[in-house]
Order: sequence, then structure tokens, then C-alpha cells
Amino acid sequence: MSDRMTMQDPRGQYPRPPFAEQPQAEPGLARLMEPRPDHGETSYRGSGRLTGRKALITGGDSGIGRAAAIAYAREGADVAISYLPAEARDAEEVIALIGAEGRRALALPGDITDEAWCKALVQRTVSDLGGLDILVINAGHQQYHNAVSEVSSEDFDRTMKTNLYALHWITKAATPHLPPGAAIITTASVQAYDPSAILLDYATTKAGIVAYTKALSKQLIERGVRANVVAPGPFWTALQPSGGQPQDKVKTFGEQSAFGRPGQPVEIAPVYVLLASQEASYITGEVYGVTGSAGVA
Ligand code: NAD
Ligand code: MG
Repeated sequence: MSDRMTMQDPRGQYPRPPFAEQPQAEPGLARLMEPRPDHGETSYRGSGRLTGRKALITGGDSGIGRAAAIAYAREGADVAISYLPAEARDAEEVIALIGAEGRRALALPGDITDEAWCKALVQRTVSDLGGLDILVINAGHQQYHNAVSEVSSEDFDRTMKTNLYALHWITKAATPHLPPGAAIITTASVQAYDPSAILLDYATTKAGIVAYTKALSKQLIERGVRANVVAPGPFWTALQPSGGQPQDKVKTFGEQSAFGRPGQPVEIAPVYVLLASQEASYITGEVYGVTGSAGVA
């Protein structure tokens, strides 16, 4: 693979389907994926755009959150990552990569469907890193179900708690700490606008994240804080083979995009960097799509 920054046809820059079936239990691990996703481990180059900032990223162990964590550290930020205890092996790799940049790394294992933990993880970030300038709400729960009758109350509750309640609990705990110039970035999906039949509950939360973030942005700009949404299309992450999609869709994942392949997490990291940085000084309440021009994810 040539250098990521070299001008080239982006359609051939990363692996294309077909992929192997690769079922994993939820939460999936990036380290078990084949091919391994590119989170920027060797490919993301920073340029000091977040020097001295303190960031908290939920779901920073793998996938899109991990790509944001690596990019933020390379841009000069200290980074706290929250994740589920079962993801410790993925998280250890990210903690080491942040440390290798000479930045502070904070590991926050715990379940964000618990309100008390959501409050505690913000407090620990503020006390360990000495403040909070960038909040990335990225953790998400996605399990497909073929029919509405198959979505149990427990399923529905877990999706709502992970994707919406935790967003609210963490935001509520974090906002008093955010200084002027700080930024919140939430992670929705193309599913907010073009929902798949099999992702009823998930798509509902993603539409909710867009509305919540837009409303929040109107409050926070009164204090000089910005809030924006990123809406990804199909990205090659552990969320998909661990029940986010049926295995036959994993095999062809990303095929329907204009690129004929899924995005790699590093390909969305620059948007998280932009929205966190002062270069986005006139950007709030916006939704940034990075969908590969695809309707399904
Ligand atoms: P991922 O599995 O790598 O990341 C999701 C993370 O959510 C996990 O690593 C896990 O740490 C965290 N998480 C889930 N439940 C949790 C809980 N109860 N407590 C604590 N942490 C929990 O997958 P990803 O694709 O990088 O997902 C990141 C975000 O991107 C999600 O919000 C997802 O909905 C969104 N998204 C992904 C795609 C895609 O195609 N991969 C497309 C659109 C949106
Ligand atoms: Mg993970």
C-alpha cells in the first residue's frame, strides 16, 4: 500500500469486498478482524492542530473512535478512552499508541449504560488530564433484527441506553467543564436519514443523535462551545461482524458505495480533527457525512 497522503485513485486505496465471514461475539474486537482495519496506526500524520488539548472519546478502543484517538494524540492532545472491559486488549494497543506520541493516555473501562459510570468517567478525565476540551461521543450499540417482532424490550432498551441515554448523561456531566473554544462531536450514521429495515432501533437512535446535537449546539454556542455531528456510511469496524450486520452482508460490506469498498477508520479521522480544532471556528450544529456516497451502514 502506498503512503496514505500520496495522490491516487481512492477506490483502490484500501481492501475491497468480498471479505471472509468472520462472526464475533459483541463487542467485537478490531484485533480479530481480517483484514485488520487501518486506524492510522502507521498512516496518520499529525501537524500540531490540537496541541495541549484534553480529549475524551467513548468507544476509543476500536474502529472510528480509535482512529480519532490516534489522530488526536498525533495532533498533540492528551486522550482518555472509554470502552467495555471485554475490549481491554484493543484498548491497550490504543493506550500504547497515545503514549508513544508523548501524550497522556487514560483508560476508562466500564459500561456506559450505567448513569453513575457516565458521570464518573467524566470526573476521572477531568481530574486525571486536568480538564476537558474535546468530547467525542462515539460508543454505539448495533445488533440487526430481521423483524420488528424480534426486537425485545431488552434489545430496544440496550440500544437506547448506549446510543442516547449515555450521550445525555456524559454530555450533562461534561458541559460544566468545557471552556470557550471546546468542542463536542457526536457520531450518528447515514441510518439517521436512510434507515435499513433490519436496524429499526439503531436507526431511531441515530436520528435522535442528530436532533440532540443540533439542539445542544444552540445552547452551547452561548458559552463559546461548538457541537457537531459526524454521520458515517459503511466503515470497516468490529461493530459490523459482531452482529451489526448478517454475515452475508459482511462479505460484501461497502460494495454498494460509490467506491466499491468500505471506508477505513483512518479515512474519517480528519473530520473529527477538523471539528475539534480551532480551524472549525465557524462550524456548529452541522452534520458531516462521510458515507462513500452509500446509503447503507
Ligand atoms: P466499534 O465497535 O469499533 O466501536 C463501538 C464502540 O462502542 C466499542 O468499541 C465499545 O467500546 C463501545 N461501546 C458499545 N457499547 C458500550 C457500552 N455499553 N459501554 C461502553 N462502551 C460501549 O465500531 P465503530 O463502527 O467504530 O462504531 C463507532 C460509532 O460509529 C458508533 O456510534 C456507530 O454507530 C457509528 N457508525 C459506524 C458505522 C460503520 O459502518 N462502522 C456507520 C455509521 C455509524
Ligand atoms: Mg471496540
